[in-house]
Amino acid sequence: MTDDALRSSRAVVIGGGLAGITAALRLADAGLEVTVLEGRPRLGGLAFSFRRGELTVDNGHHVYLRCCTAYRWFLDRVGGTSLAPLQNRLDVPVLDVGRPSGPRLGRLRRNDLPVPFHLAAGLAGYPHLSLAERASVGRAALALGRLDPEDPALDTVDFGSWLARHGQSPRTVEALWDLVGVATLNATAPNSSLALAAKVFKTGLLSEPGAADIGWAGVPLGEIHDTLARAALDAVGVRVELRTKATSLTRTEQGGWSVGTDGERIDADAVVLAVPQRETHGLLPAGAIDAPDRLLDIGTSPILNVHVVYDRKVLRRPFFTALGSPVQWVFDRTEASGLTGPGQYLAVSQSAADEEIDLPVAELRGRYLPELERLLPAARTAGIRDFFVTRERAATFAPAPGVGRLRPGARTRLPGLGLAGAWTATGWPATMEGAVRSGSSAADVALRALGRSHEHPLQEAA
Ligand SMILES: Cc1cc2nc3c(=O)[nH]c(=O)nc-3n(C[C@H](O)[C@H](O)[C@H](O)COP(=O)(O)OP(=O)(O)OC[C@H]3O[C@@H](n4cnc5c(N)ncnc54)[C@H](O)[C@@H]3O)c2cc1C
Repeated sequence: MTDDALRSSRAVVIGGGLAGITAALRLADAGLEVTVLEGRPRLGGLAFSFRRGELTVDNGHHVYLRCCTAYRWFLDRVGGTSLAPLQNRLDVPVLDVGRPSGPRLGRLRRNDLPVPFHLAAGLAGYPHLSLAERASVGRAALALGRLDPEDPALDTVDFGSWLARHGQSPRTVEALWDLVGVATLNATAPNSSLALAAKVFKTGLLSEPGAADIGWAGVPLGEIHDTLARAALDAVGVRVELRTKATSLTRTEQGGWSVGTDGERIDADAVVLAVPQRETHGLLPAGAIDAPDRLLDIGTSPILNVHVVYDRKVLRRPFFTALGSPVQWVFDRTEASGLTGPGQYLAVSQSAADEEIDLPVAELRGRYLPELERLLPAARTAGIRDFFVTRERAATFAPAPGVGRLRPGARTRLPGLGLAGAWTATGWPATMEGAVRSGSSAADVALRALGRSHEHPLQEAA
């Protein structure tokens, strides 16, 4: 194909989440004419913001790690790196309120020594585990480091049984493995595939000293995933159609593609389908992948966020996580949300929230306000300016054992059709990192079908 022919090649990306935005940027960077169709009135998919009075609220607090090289590429590409800074060094305050002797604050920290010594001092000083438990955690971490997350056999095993076989007590699971695992996998250890757990812990804790340093948006997520992403797409000439659902996807007689919406049909040489697994199943043309009904067997897992606006400052740190309490992670979103006046806005992020996701607001209020008072003494005398919850019932795919077999790769059997989404076979759990990687892989599939593999920094990052 000549460059001229390539320049006039057209691609449609269905879905404007992080996977779709990434695919569109990569295809446009390679010189294609790209249209993005997004059913909602904004870009960003599952990671978005909305207005509530004077606040701009994220539907759920999102963090990423320094090892998320593809998401960091994305931030850079849309000009958002400085808006979502990383910690200089991993430092997680862990407040244990479940001890008879009273609350105790510990920290999970790293230093600059080479792997695995970067965590040894932090683990040795972690007060929420006994000496014997800390030693057993070290041994299990080294054993985990020897696993190959790509070994399909690992996907059939659950992480909880593996931890038990490696001498991990219920306390080490609660105070360390699930503390990190629930937040990153969105499931407890018994409900997690060992392959995905090994991926998270190996990449995050055992690849490089700084791999697990945490970053998050200091602005509303929508400012990065919608506003900046939109500007980046506009800058490379991508046509973005919001409030536009793709309703059909068919092959043309000429071997191209036709995408139907309620208002028009768009012809294309290549298509990236970057929608959730159920919607993918609904749009996927016959013969595109083996056993398409398997997509319907990929479960989902909920995340609940509890939002509390106090009339004064009750938390001095930017965030902390709790033990001995139903509260998981608490983030100060005051500045990011635009709250004015003397108050403080805290977002409580509850992963794997199957049991709470449908509880009425009043019940959640009755549960979380006293619990926050237990964790934060200053909250006991503070007034509540606002209390609300956000519920994402299908926040992520369920990382259950066996899920690896159900996740298709980016390539389909039909030329020019690529699949993307955090739920596809990225090797990662459902994360922003997985979404960006999947979008890049699907763009590669489309470009290859057009006879053009386009070298791109993201291929290295991924
Ligand atoms: C509350 C919450 C907290 C999270 N926390 C974290 C975290 O801390 N760290 C992290 O890395 N990840 C986190 N995640 C996961 C992360 O947000 C997702 O993995 C990622 O955003 C998925 O992106 P995606 O592009 O694959 O899919 P989606 O975001 O689901 O995008 C798919 C898009 O397709 C659109 N669509 C669907 N059907 C059609 C159609 N027919 N036509 C056109 N458009 C269509 C949808 O409207 C949607 O915008 C969290 C998710 C939630 C919900």
